Amino acid sequence: LLQLEGVTVRFGERAALDRVDLAVAEHEIVCVLGPSGSGKSTLLRVVAGLQAADEGRVLLDGSDRTRVPAHRRGVGLMFQDHQLFPQRDVAGNVAFGLRMHKVAAAERSRRTGELLDLVGLPGAERRSVASLSGGEQQRVALARALAPEPRLLMLDEPLGQLDRGLRERLVVELRGLFGRLGTTVLAVTHDQGEAFALADRVVVMRDGRVAQAGTPLEVWQRPSSEFVARFLGFDN
Ligand code: ATP
Ligand code: MG
Repeated sequence: LLQLEGVTVRFGERAALDRVDLAVAEHEIVCVLGPSGSGKSTLLRVVAGLQAADEGRVLLDGSDRTRVPAHRRGVGLMFQDHQLFPQRDVAGNVAFGLRMHKVAAAERSRRTGELLDLVGLPGAERRSVASLSGGEQQRVALARALAPEPRLLMLDEPLGQLDRGLRERLVVELRGLFGRLGTTVLAVTHDQGEAFALADRVVVMRDGRVAQAGTPLEVWQRPSSEFVARFLGFDN
C-alpha cells in the first residue's frame, strides 16, 4: 500500500530523514519507535504530504504520490499536538472529515456518537473543545482521525496523554476496529508496551534512519544493534 524509497528531508544542514526505505502492506499495523528528534513525526508528515521530500519517492498503491497535495492523498493523520478546531464543538470536530466526504447529517451524528463511545467520551457532542482536558482533547482528535475511515491512517502519539488503564483499553479496541475496517496504520508511539500490543511490525528510528524493522517479537528477541537494545531498555 505504502512505499518510501530513499526519502530524505533536510532542515538546514541536518537530515530529519536520511534515505528512508519503508514498505507498509495493506491491512498492516506498523508502529514507529525512537528517541525524540529521530524523525518520527517528519516521516508521517512526508507520507501525508504536509512535508516535502528533498530526495526520494513516496508511493501509494504503487504510484508516485511524492508531488500530490495532502488533501488528495487519501490518508488520515492525527497530529501529535492534536490541532482541534477551537471554534467548533466536539461533534463539529469529529464530523469534520465526514462533512468533507459529503456524508449525510443523520449518518454523521450516528457515527460521531459511536466514535465518542469508543474513545470513552459518550455524550460529549456539544461540549466546547476549550472545556476539555488534554487527554480528552486527544481522544476527540483520535475520533476525528478515525471518522472518515481512511485506508491508511497515521497516528502521532495517539494515546500519549492518557492514563495507563484507558490506554490499555483503547489499544485493544483500536486493534479490533482496525481489523474490522481493514485499516492500514502507521503509528508513532514512545510507549513500547503499546507498540508491542498494537503492531504487526515495529520500526525503530535513529537520527532519521531506520535502525531496525521487524515483528515485535523479532525486534524484542534479536535487536540488530546495541542502539536498539539500549533503546528497548536492555541496559546491561
Ligand atoms: P519527538 O519524539 O520529540 O516527537 P520526532 O522523532 O517526532 O521527535 P521530528 O519532529 O520528526 O522528531 O524531528 C526530527 C528532527 O527534525 C528534529 O531534530 C527536529 O528539530 C527537526 N525538525 C522537525 N521539523 C522541523 C522544522 N519544521 N524546521 C526545522 N527543523 C525541524
Ligand atoms: Mg514527533
